[in-house]
Amino acid sequence: MILVLEPNVHPESVDYRMLTSQLERLSNISYRVHREVGSEVTLTEIYLIGNTAALTVEQMQVLPCVTKVVRVSEPYRVLGRHKQGDDRASSFEYNGVRFGQDNLNVFAGLCAVDSRESVEAMMKALRDNGQVCTRMGAYKPRTSPYAFQGFGAECLPYVFELAGKYGIRVISMEVTHESHVDEIRRALEATGNATGVMLQIGTRNTQNFELLKQVGRQQQFPVLIKRGFGITLDESLNAAEYLATEGNRKIVFCLRGMHTNMGDPHRNLVDFAHVPVVKRLTRMPVAVDPSHSVGLRARAPDGLLDILHVAAQGVIAGANMVLVDFHPEPAKALVDGPQALLVSELPHLLADIAIAREAYEKRARLAREQPSAR
Ligand code: PEP
Ligand code: MN
Repeated sequence: MILVLEPNVHPESVDYRMLTSQLERLSNISYRVHREVGSEVTLTEIYLIGNTAALTVEQMQVLPCVTKVVRVSEPYRVLGRHKQGDDRASSFEYNGVRFGQDNLNVFAGLCAVDSRESVEAMMKALRDNGQVCTRMGAYKPRTSPYAFQGFGAECLPYVFELAGKYGIRVISMEVTHESHVDEIRRALEATGNATGVMLQIGTRNTQNFELLKQVGRQQQFPVLIKRGFGITLDESLNAAEYLATEGNRKIVFCLRGMHTNMGDPHRNLVDFAHVPVVKRLTRMPVAVDPSHSVGLRARAPDGLLDILHVAAQGVIAGANMVLVDFHPEPAKALVDGPQALLVSELPHLLADIAIAREAYEKRARLAREQPSAR
């Protein structure tokens, strides 16, 4: 059971103390407090654990400071969309960009940072096309230990400086170890926080529970968690719950295809049919990564690249974010060149995504107008 408290409740206030002393008197119930400090309001939720079946919503509703009581009906206690009375937010804002289940952000960028020149070419194209988000890999988990592992902390100063120069507000960047979070924090501070970072948990680390706990314990950076490529959706949603239960609620869930040769000739089997499923089960915005799903620049007879087709499939199903690999010279890219779009293809991708988004919005409107939807 979740008790949602009035905004800005002070932990030293008389009412709050009355509330906690009453909770302490409940038998076989323990509680955990989650406090989210925003720029304007502080939100507090209290999670009751134990024999909550013995409690009624009405009984908890009248306790001091409580504005809403949500009975947990999903295994994803924090992130789940519970059946009764759960109208908690399904969006968040970070560095001036809104991430929600009702909007769409495109993160086009480099799979891996390989030179200052390619970062600048990418950032400039993004600015020229009205974009404020990107992806940039500094820490790359690679199948072979002999493959390029990313420039790590060394490239962060120029990546962040150039992001500031071109008005990029959020960079999705994978971390594979908790120390990377500190490196990112320090490098950002050194540029006067010229930009923002969304920490990415890659598909190979979806069940790296210690990493999830560490990343979940900080609330400075939002997190993009990729679905594990060989585990069930439920297992991946529980992984996201690890982040949330440690305190970080600014989480985007990313579908990126499943590892099986049933998807051949694509690199992975596209799983974007799960976009509406994740939105139904949880309050997380859902991203799709057509580049790592498809993994190659094949073109259909209609002239569209498979990557564009698949991106559109995610967007027309209501995806809230699209993560796409680009490179100024894909043949020279150190990671995933075969799936990179050319920087000159950015306007086409954005226009194609806009068509799919408009179609999705029309579909959602039509569905809401149906008598059966009421
Ligand atoms: C990536 O986005 O750079 C990446 C490595 O993706 P994934 O974890 O989905 O393989
Ligand atoms: Mn990649």
